[in-house]
Amino acid sequence: MKSCLVVDDSKVIRKVARHILEGLSFEVREAADGREALDACLASPPDVVLLDWNMPVMSGMDFLRALREASLSAKPKVVFCTTENGIAYIRAAIEAGADEYVMKPFDRETLQSKLQIVGMA
Ligand SMILES: [Mg+2]
Repeated sequence: MKSCLVVDDSKVIRKVARHILEGLSFEVREAADGREALDACLASPPDVVLLDWNMPVMSGMDFLRALREASLSAKPKVVFCTTENGIAYIRAAIEAGADEYVMKPFDRETLQSKLQIVGMA
């Protein structure tokens, strides 16, 4: 069973993502900010991280940079998830180490296709 860490400060988004991902047979964990997510990855790296951009405590971008510098036993794929649809944001995220991105609001088909692109569904 593949594992996904859903990182978003919105409880509603986490719930929606969890529902979709469990329907795709993922084992799902949640984190409410980048710091919680980093701790979760250091404790046990997931196969894939679904990552929000704007969060308190530690943003998605700061998390991404910290994740790529951390020495983990396995390197999670990162699907960056955002409402910021400017190409500059997407480019910055890819440069910081994101593997793919998905625009909010996303549905099951969209998320599944992005997970397929990174080899996770
Ligand atoms: Mg947010």
